[in-house]
Amino acid sequence: MSLKGKVALVTGSTSGIGHAVAKRLAEQGANIMINGIADDAVVKAALAEIEALGVKAAFCGADLSTAEGAEELVREAEKALGPVDVLVNNAGIQHTDLIEDFPPEKWDFILSLMLTSPYHLIRHTIKGMKSRGWGRIVNIASAHGKVASAKKSAYVSAKHGLVGLTKVVGLEAAGTGVTCNAVCPGWVLTPLVQKQIDALAQNENLSQEDAKKKLLMEKQPSGQFVLPEQIGGMVSYLCSDDAAQITGTALSIDGGWTAQ
Ligand code: NAD
Repeated sequence: MSLKGKVALVTGSTSGIGHAVAKRLAEQGANIMINGIADDAVVKAALAEIEALGVKAAFCGADLSTAEGAEELVREAEKALGPVDVLVNNAGIQHTDLIEDFPPEKWDFILSLMLTSPYHLIRHTIKGMKSRGWGRIVNIASAHGKVASAKKSAYVSAKHGLVGLTKVVGLEAAGTGVTCNAVCPGWVLTPLVQKQIDALAQNENLSQEDAKKKLLMEKQPSGQFVLPEQIGGMVSYLCSDDAAQITGTALSIDGGWTAQ
């Protein structure tokens, strides 16, 4: 229970990776601020799941594609649970198109949600972390924070930017007790990736199983999906005392994707 009494804010934690990260941090004793765009039943279930672990949980459905949303989320977290000790920037979406067809409004939305919102959330929380002498910021980037794939211009740009932001914040906070790191997953079977599997299956007339295999074979040498729980484990490690000197890094958890 290394995070007992700490407050963790996990963006996009109503689904997928964020949900698994929130659960793992709750298992470590942290009180959890849940965020995401989800219907009431999903939110209720997520809150109940976290509270069943013996910690406090609260929810705020702020839209993080706006500066106001980021400000609201921090305000609500502090009101419900107290100052934020652990910030996990995880909320994200995907959109694929050749750059000449990439809709400008999608570009703006992805950059706002996945790069600008982490900037706002960090600037609203890091001062308090520094003044208390302890804090953990974990940015869920991607293998696409290190290498590119076609048709993902906004996503790859946002994730490379997020890795850059991680380095700057790591440097600025060095020695204060606050660390900032990025986690770079390969393929994880979540709703975000299921959409890409569905598109591949439809476009190439493949079964779900064959589409999954093809997706993995193209990028991920292990041929296996990373599990959301394994990312929860990595985030939990980065929050531990053992990781106190790890900062400004981008750690891969990608079945070998970026070793190629
Ligand atoms: P997911 O679709 O399961 O979850 C995304 C979460 O973001 C949801 O909770 C959703 O409600 C939230 N969200 C979306 N738009 C939002 C908005 N405007 N404001 C607030 N919240 C919003 O996806 P996931 O696969 O769990 O992705 C989580 C993160 O992990 C993303 O940043 C993604 O880029 C990254 N990632 C995923 C993979 C993968 O293979 N799944 C790989 C590398 C990185």
